[in-house]
Amino acid sequence: MKPARHRSGHHPIRTCAGCGGKFDQSTLLRLASHRGALPALEGRVRAPGRGVSLCRKKACIERAWQRHAIERGLKLKLTTPEERQVLALLKQDIYRLLGETE
Ligand SMILES: [Zn+2]
Repeated sequence: MKPARHRSGHHPIRTCAGCGGKFDQSTLLRLASHRGALPALEGRVRAPGRGVSLCRKKACIERAWQRHAIERGLKLKLTTPEERQVLALLKQDIYRLLGETE
């Protein structure tokens, strides 16, 4: 995939939380968390609140999880096992979306 570095206007550029590359937002996945709620995978409609962007690539997703980039990017404080479980399930959801397996 070609990085879209010099485009402007309709295509905002976002940084992938996994590889740190800058890409056209429309090519990335976005996870959003509103007012400290647990994060969800954003669908077609742009969710309000803080967001983290990721390439649609297993390597980037894996890396973002390893680096705890989701918690940090969304400024979440995951304290209970249940909250951590939500993040693990979220990763599975993303893999399902991408047709990957863990
Ligand atoms: Zn990436």
